[in-house]
Amino acid sequence: MAHDRLDILLVAPKNPRADGFAQRLAQCTRPRLDVTRATTMDHATSLAAAGQFDLALLDFELVPDVRRGFLLLSTALHALPIVLSVPDDAEAELRRVLPEGVLDYVRRDSDHPHVLERLLHYASQRSETLRSLREAEARLRGIVETISEGVLIVDDGGAVLYANPAAETVLARPLVEILGAPTGFQVPDTSPGVVEVFGGRHEPARLHVTVGSMTWEGRPARLVTLRDVTAQMETEENLRRSRDEAQRTAGLKTAFLANMSHELRMPLASIIGFAQILRDGLEDHEFREFADSIITSGNRLLETITSVLDLTRLDANAVQAQARPVSVASVAREAVGMLGALASRKGLPVEIETAEGDDTVHADPAVLRRILNNLVGNAIKFTEKGSVRVRIEPDGSFVRVHVVDTGIGISEAFLPQLFDEFTQESSGYDRSHEGSGLGLAITRRLCALIGAEIGVESEPGRGSTFTVVIPHSQAWTD
Ligand code: ADP
Repeated sequence: MAHDRLDILLVAPKNPRADGFAQRLAQCTRPRLDVTRATTMDHATSLAAAGQFDLALLDFELVPDVRRGFLLLSTALHALPIVLSVPDDAEAELRRVLPEGVLDYVRRDSDHPHVLERLLHYASQRSETLRSLREAEARLRGIVETISEGVLIVDDGGAVLYANPAAETVLARPLVEILGAPTGFQVPDTSPGVVEVFGGRHEPARLHVTVGSMTWEGRPARLVTLRDVTAQMETEENLRRSRDEAQRTAGLKTAFLANMSHELRMPLASIIGFAQILRDGLEDHEFREFADSIITSGNRLLETITSVLDLTRLDANAVQAQARPVSVASVAREAVGMLGALASRKGLPVEIETAEGDDTVHADPAVLRRILNNLVGNAIKFTEKGSVRVRIEPDGSFVRVHVVDTGIGISEAFLPQLFDEFTQESSGYDRSHEGSGLGLAITRRLCALIGAEIGVESEPGRGSTFTVVIPHSQAWTD
């Protein structure tokens, strides 16, 4: 709207009285009125659809039902703001109509052009203000109606005056049931809280509710927002339960380790010890063999118990590696030395080869010894002829250790489970080799403890190569 000019759509029939009114309008200069005249309603409708008018000025005779007439006109004029031009004696009648959307009226016969100027100017200003208010309200309503939180406006008595579409979803009740009725839950006084609501459901939903004070249509009211937190709270509860359970299990594990380590090993050590004494004192050959059986089985059981406890301690992070610089070749020599008797009983040569370069790594020597001990022990166990070789290759920032045997090898199908607990390639009572299937599971965890990686290549009938890649220095600590 330009302030010095108004574009007016004058809807007036063709007759001398209306022509006179149009002439008086033409005398208005502040603001200047650019008047486009339509003499029929159809003409006015098409002009209103096409043009940019500030106002429509209606100079028709009033129909008997003023209200209805006005509504029809307003629709036909595409909601253009309307000012009526009326005969002086129609004022009383008009006052009833004004609140319904007529911006103002002018007295067609008596109003001086100056009065017309002023009336039309203010009417157009009011229409401008009304339009921006309506736009602002539509924008806000659009926001409130699209947000995913439920919004309620509740009066002093607890009845719902307004609910947005999300409130229907959150409360699982249709709008017609929500509006005018009590909320169905205790609205917290001030601070936010969580309430349980059945709504239209079988299971209660948990809603996070916030409350604020506001004025709604001149009366104090509360603005209530609702967010369904049922799923979120369930997830949190599950997480808390799992964490408590994990903590309880970890506590049990620690207690188990402390008690069992002692309670299992001690009696077993006495069984083995007394069986040895018995054997030495026994004359009868058959009874000596019985005592030998007790000793052998006792030792196997002790090994298994030790492995299970080791694995549990590793899983419970109860094993601390004490890193220091150590030569891989010297640890390999110790491991091979410990297993020498086993190898020579089978007539197997065990060799150590060291390639050029620095073989020092920063690791716990005891852990490294156990890794190599397990691998060389397995290599001897699963090899009947040929040899076992330990090859040490410094390579950049790593030292690679290959434990190579010419034994039975491992099938491709078994390889993926090789490092799992309690797995062995030959299983059942008729399996060919003893063992608990824990050695490699422990070895893999020990490797992780010193930052090393373990891998394997194998061909059934030809042998296996286990490779451990140890970093010279470990970049992190456990
Ligand atoms: P176990 O105590 O039974 O030897 P391990 O975890 O050390 O347990 O080994 C698991 C299985 O992996 C063995 O039973 C065997 O089938 C296979 N295996 C391990 N090392 C070798 C090897 N050097 N050659 C052939 N098979 C092997």
